[in-house]
Amino acid sequence: MRFVASDGVVRLADALASQFDLFAPREVDGKLVLARLSEAVGDRPPPAWNAFRLPDSLKPLWFQSGKILSRWTRDGPVPGPVPRPRAVFGAKACDLRALAILDRVLREHDFKEPAWCAAREQNFIVAGDCSDAAPSCFCTMFGEQPWPRDGYDLSLSPVDGGFILVAGSERGQEVLEAALPDAPPPTRAQTAERDEIRAALQERIIAQNEQYATHDPFETSIEKQLRTRIWGRLAATCVECNACNIVCPTCHCFLLFDRAEGAGAVRFSQWDSCFHAGYARMAGGGTPRLQLVERFKNHYFHKFVSFPRNWGMTACTGCGRCIDACMGRIDKRACLRRLETEWMPSEVLADVE
Ligand code: SF4
Ligand code: SF4
Repeated sequence: MRFVASDGVVRLADALASQFDLFAPREVDGKLVLARLSEAVGDRPPPAWNAFRLPDSLKPLWFQSGKILSRWTRDGPVPGPVPRPRAVFGAKACDLRALAILDRVLREHDFKEPAWCAAREQNFIVAGDCSDAAPSCFCTMFGEQPWPRDGYDLSLSPVDGGFILVAGSERGQEVLEAALPDAPPPTRAQTAERDEIRAALQERIIAQNEQYATHDPFETSIEKQLRTRIWGRLAATCVECNACNIVCPTCHCFLLFDRAEGAGAVRFSQWDSCFHAGYARMAGGGTPRLQLVERFKNHYFHKFVSFPRNWGMTACTGCGRCIDACMGRIDKRACLRRLETEWMPSEVLADVE
């Protein structure tokens, strides 16, 4: 554990830019976005401090829609360019949890997505405490906290005059030693300050979500409501725009397409959305989820019931991006609370009474 002043973070960014394709929060038109920093060392804006998660998730860094997965000619497969490993600044605890969820699907079980596996083994993550929260943040409703616990190489915690820097991997320790060999350990007062900032923000996030507090596991409420009419009320303003899937750091459904290119062809992936009418369509043209309300329900069932059963973790981090992006002003926290509190047995659909 070290203490670094702000110029130390610039040195760290320089060191990473010499080894990685470096991405960091950067202000564009008054908004923070995840941007590729200039290659020119010394001529690069330092990473901006993002007080809470960015509107964009980290998912597109390693799981792009439209990514070319293979190339072919009549003579067989053609190796594609080997991408430069990427490093990213500004990952928050919810971002790290989202990467762990994607790892569960794409890396840790029978099916291993080669490009994801390669990228995750080579990437470098500089995480950071949240020092503020968006009104839509609700990580604490999952028992999480607004600072990183694991899944990072280095982590920054803001304190007066700079940051406490912690290595979370051997590679992180090596980069830290090489880039900032003289950085001193933090004082007790500095670690106490960090802990106070963390605890105060955690309390604030809990307080801002009190109105959505639930007591039963989300899984229980959703299963209880599976055959009731509440879903029509929850989905009443949904316009099927798919924004919630696109911004979600954990949604990972994709389609594969081939297209002719030059003398051969390429195969590429494209993100799918479970809100699309064609999402569950089968070869004969039929679909079990013809109605939007069924697809809306499936989205909740998947994230909070079937994914935890199949993969051992909830497929939601409480990042709140879907709340900010929803054109229908549908708030996932409010829906989860309504699923627990609006239980009306008289509304159970007749076919199961
Ligand atoms: S469902 Fe919403 S709150 Fe949950 S991880 Fe996805 S975008 Fe974030
Ligand atoms: S973002 Fe909102 S309106 Fe769009 S598909 Fe999702 S729930 Fe429906």
